[in-house]
Parts: sequence; C-alpha cells; structure tokens
Amino acid sequence: MKKKNKSNKSADFADTYDLVVEAKKRKQIALTNGHCMFEFPAEGRIDQSLISPNALNVIKDLRSRGFKAYIVGGCVRDLLLGKEPKDFDVTTTATPKQIVGSVRHCRARVIGRRFKIVHCVFGTPGNEEIIEVATFRSKYVGEAADNGFIIHDNNYGTDIVEDSCRRDYTVNSMYYSPVSDTIYDLHGGYYDLMENTIDIIGDPVVRIFEDPARIIRAYRFVAKLGFSISDRTLAGFRDNFSLIKNINNSRLFEEVNKFFLGGYGRRSYEVLRESGILKYFLTEQGVVYDSDFFDEFISESLKRSDERYREGKPNMPAFLYAVLLWPLIDSLTRKLILRVGQSKEKKDIVAVITQKVLTSQNLITNIPATVQAIIVNILTLQTEMEYGKDGVNNPDQIVASKFFRAAVDFLKLRAAFDDALADAAMSWNEDYNLRSRNHEAKGDTKKKQRGRKSSKAKKNAKPAEAAEKATAQKKKGGSDKNNDKKRRIRKERRNKKAIISAASHSF
Ligand code: ATP
Ligand code: MG
Repeated sequence: MKKKNKSNKSADFADTYDLVVEAKKRKQIALTNGHCMFEFPAEGRIDQSLISPNALNVIKDLRSRGFKAYIVGGCVRDLLLGKEPKDFDVTTTATPKQIVGSVRHCRARVIGRRFKIVHCVFGTPGNEEIIEVATFRSKYVGEAADNGFIIHDNNYGTDIVEDSCRRDYTVNSMYYSPVSDTIYDLHGGYYDLMENTIDIIGDPVVRIFEDPARIIRAYRFVAKLGFSISDRTLAGFRDNFSLIKNINNSRLFEEVNKFFLGGYGRRSYEVLRESGILKYFLTEQGVVYDSDFFDEFISESLKRSDERYREGKPNMPAFLYAVLLWPLIDSLTRKLILRVGQSKEKKDIVAVITQKVLTSQNLITNIPATVQAIIVNILTLQTEMEYGKDGVNNPDQIVASKFFRAAVDFLKLRAAFDDALADAAMSWNEDYNLRSRNHEAKGDTKKKQRGRKSSKAKKNAKPAEAAEKATAQKKKGGSDKNNDKKRRIRKERRNKKAIISAASHSF
C-alpha cells in the first residue's frame, strides 16, 4: 500500500537515526505526561506482504462505514521487528454490533463476557483465519475489587489515546493505519522496541494489581523476543509475584501453553526458572522441581518440541503437561510401589496417581477434561510399553491406541535419560514410523482437499480488488512453494491462538 504522506510529521524523519532521536524524546514526554502522540511513516519499516489481507479487508469495511479502525498490539510490534505476526488484532470506534454489521466475507461472532469483542472468521473450517476486532476502550471507570483487580469492565472509548493507556506494555501499544501507512505510538513503544525493552504503561504497581497476568506476559516477551524488562517495571513486580496466584486457572492454562508450545519453550523455561515464576505454574508437591532430573527432562523435551514447531508439527498441551508432571508422578509411583509391593498393577497405580496430581494441578491451571484424558492415556501406556513390543500380550491394541505416537515420543524422551528403556523405545519404532507415514499421507490428502475447497471459496468470495491485490502480492514474493507452506503453518497457528484467546480474553 502506498504511503499517502498526509501526516506533516511523516516527512520530518530524514533517516532512521532522526526517527530514533525523536522517538527517545517522545518516550521521555510519555513517561512524564502519561502519553505522547508520535506518528511516523510505516513505509520501509513494515513489510506489507506480512500483513494478513483479511485484517486489511476488515479495516476497509469498517472505514467504509465511517468508523476509525487500526491494526494494533503485538502484531504491529512483530511487523516492526520484521516478523510475521501469529495473529492480527484490529481496534475500532464501532461497537460489537456495528462491527458485525460492517464486516463482509467472513463469519462474525461476538465473544467475551467482561469486554465483548468480535471474532471475524475467514476461510473454511480447518483452514480458518480469525481476526479479533475490539472496540476502543475508555479509561477504566468500572468496578474494582478491594485488591485493585478489575472485576467489571465494559466501557467503550472513542480514541486511541485512552485505548492505548489500557494496554500492557509500550511495545504492544502501537497502532497502524493501512490507509495513511502510518504508525501511531503513544507511549514510546518504538523507542523501547529499538532498545529491546519491555516497559509497562503507567504506574507498574497499579497495572499489576489490575491484572497480575501482566507479570507473566512480560516474562513471555522476554523469552519470545529476547528483550529485557525495564528497571521501573521490575521494581513494580518485585514484591508482587505472589499475585500470580490470583490469576484465574483457565487463563493460566492458556498462558502456560503460550510459553511452552510456540517454538520458544526452552528459552521460556530458562526465563521462568531464573525469575522464580515457574513455581506458580505447577502444583506444589515436594522438592521434585529442584531436582537435576526435572531440569534436564523438561529442557530436553522443550528442545524437541521447539524443533517440532520449526518443522510445522503440532505440539499438544497434553504432552506438555505429561512432561511437566511426570517427574512428580514417577516419584510418587515409585514410593507407592515400595509401599504396596506387587499387589497392584503398575498401570492402575500410575492412573490413580496421575489423576490425583491432575486434581491438584487443576487448581492452578485448569486443564480441560479432554486434555486430562490424553495425559492419563500417554502415561498409563508407558507402563505397558516400557517392556518393549515383545514383552506385552496386546501389542496390536497398543499400536491401535489413538495416543500411540505421543506415547512412543514420551517413551523415547524417557529413554534419553534411562538406558534400560532404549530397547523398548526402539521396538515400537517401526510401528511408530508406519503410523507417522500414514498420518502424514492422510494429512496431505486432507490439506489438498481443504486447499481446493478454500481456493474455490476464496475465488467466489473475494471482491475483484482484493483478489487482484492477492495476485499482486503473490507475484511479489509468495510464489515460492516453501513460503506458501510456512505461511499456511503460521496461519494455522494464528487461528489456534485466536480460539484459545476467545476462551480467556480478559484484559
Ligand atoms: P503474541 O505475539 O503472543 O500474540 P500479543 O502482545 O499480541 O502477543 P495478545 O494476547 O495477542 O498478545 O494481545 C494483543 C494485545 O492486547 C496486546 O499486544 C496488548 O496490547 C493487549 N493486551 C493483551 N493482554 C493484555 C493485558 N493483560 N493487559 C493489557 N493489555 C493487554
Ligand atoms: Mg497477538
């Protein structure tokens, strides 16, 4: 999209150096005055091909009805860093009802209890992209609990100044207008981005009491972006880490997933350990988390899941929790076996202990029942599979299990720490490879079918102009097959993330 250069300020910055000098000045003013509008051209700073055409279409639809609309938040941050965002957020002056009445070529649904937002769903099932559209928020005037935590909040605002003050970190509070190709930065976010700094908007203690999840979000950005938390933000965190306990357990489940399943799991683990936050994520049971085994087992597992992410393979929350809880479950199982001897089947003991540990873990992170069932399956299958394929009466039944491949992955992981399991892990491998090949073949067929369906749908649904733009963009750089595959994988991830956030949208 061409810069229209409407903004007189846009022309002021002869080069990046000038921009950074100005950004620094504005950051100081924002810190003193609460905010400071700084607008600068996006041209040369944002790669248009990384922007979702669906997000652009939503903005176009809203603007054509006379509403203001911008791309906002982490996606602007990522675009300025040259990364493809995993999801896109749009903010607008339209109310949820008006948003639903304005957007076209998608299924729009209103979600959220505390603050209603709209999910605009594009594409066909299995190949969807969700653009999250929220009405500007006003300065907080709602109801707060005695401890400062916001319990009721549904105030719509009319400008980005107030909306930006409600956001968490300066790097997450920049707005992008595709119409003027301009970035609007109200809290020195661009300067902090250049400085690799996570700095909270407003008074750190007040903002953390409002929503303690902001503490863990800061550490997630440290892990994800390799940034540092500013001193003033850290000072606000210092005596308040225990507020993490106040975070709703369903929301914490989603936050933990974001830490570990998005390709930066190992780094997240290091950051969480160093900061002392990890203990707030796991059920308090003995000293197992301080053991070298726990440390090495989790690190190795996260290294493997980060690799899977890079290869575009899915990482399941169930596997993650099976890993996180295994050192504890294993240690409790050994203790119980010593007590009851061989009088009970190991499988039953593991099942009972896993259930007990899950009940306790659920108070912290509310693990959905379906996920819990998979965890129990993976772990109880271990008790049979550790004897190797020849050591069991029912190998075919085990291979036929829905969670066979996850269970073999888990056994392989354990075998990396226990030589006695190496042969057993090897013995299941042939079936594992066979099932993996079948699975991939099935996946490819499904994807091909989906691809055919979705390109047909797109052809029918897209207005001529958007179709033209897509073709132009494709010509520009997206023709490479590998890029297409990567793009598809990223889109699927964006979609998954959007569904997760639908369940816990609550800032
Ligand atoms: P990610 O790259 O992981 O998606 P993100 O910053 O985009 O990071 P989202 O959860 O997608 O995180 O949230 C989108 C935006 O909503 C954020 O960038 C921020 O502006 C705002 N936001 C999210 N959570 C909070 C919160 N707890 N408090 C204030 N603002 C928040
Ligand atoms: Mg996001």
